[in-house]
Amino acid sequence: MTKLICKSCKKEYPADEKIWKCNCGNLLDIDFKASFPIEKIQNRKPTMWRYREAIPIEKDENIVSFNEGFTPLVEVDFNGKSVLIKQDQLFSTGSYKDRGASVLISKVKELGIKKIVEDSSGNAGCAIASYCAKAQIDCDIYVPADNSPAKLIQIESYGAKLHEIPGSREDTANAVLKAAEKDYYASHSWNPFFFHGTKTYAFEVCEQLNWKSPDVVILPVGNGTLLLGSYIGFNELKETGIIKKIPKIIAIQSENCNPLFKAFKENREEIPQINKNDTLAEGIAIAEPIRGKEIIDAVKKSGGDFIEVNDKEIKKALIEMCNAGFYIEPTSASTIAGIKKYLDKSNSNELIVSVFTGHGLKTTEKILKIFNK
Ligand SMILES: *Cc1c(COP(=O)(O)O)cnc(C)c1O
Ligand SMILES: [Zn+2]
Repeated sequence: MTKLICKSCKKEYPADEKIWKCNCGNLLDIDFKASFPIEKIQNRKPTMWRYREAIPIEKDENIVSFNEGFTPLVEVDFNGKSVLIKQDQLFSTGSYKDRGASVLISKVKELGIKKIVEDSSGNAGCAIASYCAKAQIDCDIYVPADNSPAKLIQIESYGAKLHEIPGSREDTANAVLKAAEKDYYASHSWNPFFFHGTKTYAFEVCEQLNWKSPDVVILPVGNGTLLLGSYIGFNELKETGIIKKIPKIIAIQSENCNPLFKAFKENREEIPQINKNDTLAEGIAIAEPIRGKEIIDAVKKSGGDFIEVNDKEIKKALIEMCNAGFYIEPTSASTIAGIKKYLDKSNSNELIVSVFTGHGLKTTEKILKIFNK
């Protein structure tokens, strides 16, 4: 039986309860037994839903899907060393957030919910809005009022209602929490179903390596939706005996917004307050990641590490990737800058896997500036 469990007080709830946090106010996880009938899986369509028995949605009729996933794993050369990079910029809304949105909005449909709220001015908002459009679920997205209109038009184009909130990012967070007292909060950082979508990244990587685990995965991290999802996914594969070990997780942050890097390097119990500065890696510029401790714990348990990169390194990495034929957004290029730093120090023959998280076409204005146009 699938259950929801509070990370803090351990209270349990049935999975058909319309909640996104515990009554005590803390984060929920999903208690769920995944299984991987490999022969069946291999005979199914190449989408993330081929891992059907590993996704906690009860009825097939509730699945909200564009046949997303099973993105190509492409070898990219870095000065003679090769890294396999998953092309998650190729999702229908232009980022890997579709993995999380597909499972979360399927759950929303399964719960019979007709309206959700979410806060994101970026890729999570786009993905949630798109899947709500497909499922005919009303969708209100809260964003800071000073956002550039270019970022918001994709969200609005899917029919979502935008609420522009004056003030800081925290003011927007408070506004959505108020709205979430009435409507279901389909949050990419709070809601555990989102992470049971992003975990399919790990399943696909292992299947594409012939059911083997890589030695290292290098992932960007802000709220940790991809990192924590991957950690869940690799662990489920290990617990069911499909893979023998989970990979070392190398987490990439921007120097201008690096609370997790700091906490990890300084071995702190609490995530420190930081002064957030503008960065090209806007998608991972999260000053107060709600699942911060969980992220640090996952990286530690994997035997991994944190690396920080600056805007100059991000620019250089973006230009190099474009010159190699890949058009990605600057946030995505931060991961590439991190890969380069990792490779500088490592000289072994590790099997390294990483990801392009977002498409360059989403950020034309920023890329124009990077190329000085
Ligand atoms: C969401 C996102 C990330 C990862 O961010 P998290 O806050 O860790 O979930 C990385 N790159 C892009 C392009 C994104 O949209
Ligand atoms: Zn609780």
